[in-house]
Amino acid sequence: MQVVEPSQDYGKLQLLVDGVWKDSKTQEYRDIFNPATGKVIGRLPFATPEEVAASVDSAQQAFDKWRYVPIIDRIKYLFRMKDSMEKHLEELATITTQNHGKTLEESRGELRRAIENVEVAIGAAYILSKGDTMDQIAAGIDVTMSKEPLGVFSIVCPFNFPLMVPFWFLPYAIVLGDTVVVKPSDLTPLAMQRTAKIIQEEVGLPQGVLNVVHGGKDAVDGLISHHDIRGVTFVGSSPVAKHVYKMAGEYGKRAISNGGAKNCVVVMPDADLGASMSNIVSSFFGNTGQRCLAGANLLPVGDAHDSFLAKFADAVSKIKVGYGLDPGVTMGPLVSERAEERVRGYVDAGLQEGAKAVADGRSTKVPEHPGGFYIGPTILDGVTPEMKVSREEVFGPLASVIQAGKLDDAIEVINRGTEFGNMACIYTSSGRSAREFRVRANAGNIGINVGVAAPSAYYPFGGRKESFYGVLHAQIDTVDFFTDRKISISKW
Ligand code: NAD
Repeated sequence: MQVVEPSQDYGKLQLLVDGVWKDSKTQEYRDIFNPATGKVIGRLPFATPEEVAASVDSAQQAFDKWRYVPIIDRIKYLFRMKDSMEKHLEELATITTQNHGKTLEESRGELRRAIENVEVAIGAAYILSKGDTMDQIAAGIDVTMSKEPLGVFSIVCPFNFPLMVPFWFLPYAIVLGDTVVVKPSDLTPLAMQRTAKIIQEEVGLPQGVLNVVHGGKDAVDGLISHHDIRGVTFVGSSPVAKHVYKMAGEYGKRAISNGGAKNCVVVMPDADLGASMSNIVSSFFGNTGQRCLAGANLLPVGDAHDSFLAKFADAVSKIKVGYGLDPGVTMGPLVSERAEERVRGYVDAGLQEGAKAVADGRSTKVPEHPGGFYIGPTILDGVTPEMKVSREEVFGPLASVIQAGKLDDAIEVINRGTEFGNMACIYTSSGRSAREFRVRANAGNIGINVGVAAPSAYYPFGGRKESFYGVLHAQIDTVDFFTDRKISISKW
């Protein structure tokens, strides 16, 4: 396997506008960190309003030609994109770990899912972008329905999957004939920045088809409100998702807006713990709990509680916390000092409200990297559905254990205990319990003996309630989001 020595300083990031990488004219820069060491490894420009507008203008100009490039030729760019991402997989995974903190193995997994979306977009372009016709709807009159690209879309990304999330959208938009402006996370922009450079150098997309701007709220609002933006895809926290969805509505733009999560994992007394334990542990502590599909509330049902909890705590104690590029490490740091403080605050609040710590990661130290933003895996038992720690999104390595009397009680917590509806999972060996759960749990992604119910690219990525605003979802659903149906009726 290729070993990549990561750069220690990525310098000032540039903007990609109209096919050219440019320094921003902004005076506002923010440090980019390696959360495992706490060291600054780059500087992020907050693009000026003129630069944001220029990125859309360039994408609009490119669209006027790109939309007429035959689909078989557009697909060839995606084949090259896939090849380039495969070729640079180790480099991109290393950068992802360095900037986000997840382990190298987790970064590789993220990249695989990004590449899978390129593959599915290639297939979708052939199969799902076809139109339809019906002859003779009246005497001598035929109707044709074709799917057309719409123009420029902006893709706004969260910190936690800095490469996978842009690729839930980007390859579909491009192959269908639209053009894009990507706004990476302001915390973890490095992997997308490098990928855009690779695409530009090796894939050769016409200038303006792919643009990258950096910034925060102002950049996002500037994109949505730009006259030539046809739609926005957003993935991030619920308050911002709601803001984006509202603003898109106000400006008459299409929107897919994914929000936060508070996922419940139910363990029935008949669960096969031998087969499932590592899977449950990974649900809560994989990606340091910073997945929108991470387990957050753990609900053992009936007498599953005691036997399960002891085994769970034992498995969790084997997690090795550290820098994701160091060998043997199985859990990295939180993404930022702020995130670390937030998670500590939730653990404190849970204990104050009466929960008991079965594992307490607040004192975890990584001596080789004393400046990193670390908290070890934490388990709070005796949590109730009324406690803040069980209702709000923590987004860190914290499992809140809520004892449930029956499956009905657990489903009640899922459906009414939080405002989120991203994922719900059950571990059981009963088909009847599993079916009951699948039908009644109000979440967009359901796991049955699976703790991270992440849909493959050829399915939509679900989400309900405050976890999702919109109609069409990420991945394959975006074929309909990025195209519009045109009906023509003809008589000769
Ligand atoms: P965030 O909401 O802080 O930021 C997301 C993006 O929005 C970033 O690009 C950021 O620069 C921009 N932004 C921040 N504040 C803004 C504002 N006021 N107006 C406009 N834009 C703004 O989210 P995050 O911390 O980067 O990501 C973590 C969150 O994302 C968690 O809540 C997690 O559950 C969620 N998430 C959801 C999914 C899903 O599919 N539902 C997937 C991944 C992550």
